[in-house]
Amino acid sequence: MQIDALIARLKEQYPPGKFGSRDPFHVLIATVLSQRTRDEVTDRAADKLFSKYRTPEELACADVRDIENLIREVGFYRVKALRVKEIARIINNDYGGKVPADIEALLMLPGVGRKTANCVLVYGFGKDEIAVDTHVHRISNRLGLVSTKTPEETEEELRRVIPERHWKYVNELFVRFGQDICRPAGRKCDQCPVSELCPDKRKKQ
Ligand code: SF4
Repeated sequence: MQIDALIARLKEQYPPGKFGSRDPFHVLIATVLSQRTRDEVTDRAADKLFSKYRTPEELACADVRDIENLIREVGFYRVKALRVKEIARIINNDYGGKVPADIEALLMLPGVGRKTANCVLVYGFGKDEIAVDTHVHRISNRLGLVSTKTPEETEEELRRVIPERHWKYVNELFVRFGQDICRPAGRKCDQCPVSELCPDKRKKQ
């Protein structure tokens, strides 16, 4: 696989945003809210939540029922309301209100797995990491970059096969490509900008 060509082609199609420009706390909370929830629903709920509670201190002191009301559109909103309040409390009490730029510390937070932790590092801090969600996992396998069963294995393999200078782009590019063209079902191989690099191209869907 010609990785440089693949990344360049996807960047042309989906010009990436600026990494490290978002508030790490907002990235963290929004990514926890996004688990098993559509992007537009997550965005609405996160906007409502942050319009009332902007900082870890404010969210840590919030009434959990009020958090539930603000985020009730997202899946598992009751569990997530408890989680985001607890995360805010830990960030406020143990880290002086600043999200740690450290994967091990992030993984200790409730409801935070590798995808969420890596999203915080990439989008909140601009670090060179690979955040693997279902789109990244599926597309990496279809393109033959990896041959893996779980997102965790995919992250490990991608770190081996993709040069570090491309890492932080992988999540954004593959997610947008996966929502647009290389979908879970109904992939549009006839419109695919990287079809000649793909061993899994389909003639008809
Ligand atoms: S050719 Fe089809 S399967 Fe391959 S990356 Fe493009 S859309 Fe996905």
